[in-house]
Amino acid sequence: MLNFRQICVLFFLIEGVIYFLLRGSDVLFPVLFLVLFAYLILFFFSMRLTSNFYLKAKNSAKKGCVVLGFDDGPSPETTLKILDILAEHRAKAVFFLIGKNAIQYPNIVREIINRGHLVGGHTLNHSANFGTLNLTRAEEEIMGGINVVEGIISQKITLFRPPFGVSNPVIAAIIKKNDLEVVGWNIRSYDTINKDTKKMLKRITDKIKDGSSILLHDRVQNTVEILPDILKDIQNKKLHICPEIDW
Ligand SMILES: [Zn+2]
Repeated sequence: MLNFRQICVLFFLIEGVIYFLLRGSDVLFPVLFLVLFAYLILFFFSMRLTSNFYLKAKNSAKKGCVVLGFDDGPSPETTLKILDILAEHRAKAVFFLIGKNAIQYPNIVREIINRGHLVGGHTLNHSANFGTLNLTRAEEEIMGGINVVEGIISQKITLFRPPFGVSNPVIAAIIKKNDLEVVGWNIRSYDTINKDTKKMLKRITDKIKDGSSILLHDRVQNTVEILPDILKDIQNKKLHICPEIDW
């Protein structure tokens, strides 16, 4: 299967062949534009997991519920604080763990499980070029991360969330082969980039409703600060915070 770089090379080759075959013709530029447009559409959807274009992701909670998904942990500074806040509100969540972090902090991984939360994979290294890897390397990243966490908790993991929400035919093939369930979201908190916690909280609580699935990061101090208010908002709306994955 082609990786991102090979697809780019193929695109330029196709454009080159079209130019060679149609040069001098009136339809040359419309055809070149159409191919470019198709390429941009495919690229756009590769960055949008929640569009379900390349693979089907579970993007919302089951009826009556709100799901909290925490990515990128475990983190020694913040994950335990998040666990304490969740315990105060009797809330359960799903933690999508990075394998290399789990290797460093296995006790936090065990604590997540001991407190009744679910865990999913989030690759071994959370590589910035995850979306461009070939089949072999992408599988090493996805299953490498899952195998590390499975080894720590002695439980099978079936949930996976791709870093940056990328999806493509390579990732879709690995998900199918390994019988994984991909979990997306329908509320993005932007907690890793937003500095204004008040604005961030309002943005999230304005959107919380029946079936919401919120993307958060347990490595972020901002998230620790706003989590109690998110939980209160969910409870005020008489919704349940469910970690179940039959949504
Ligand atoms: Zn991530």
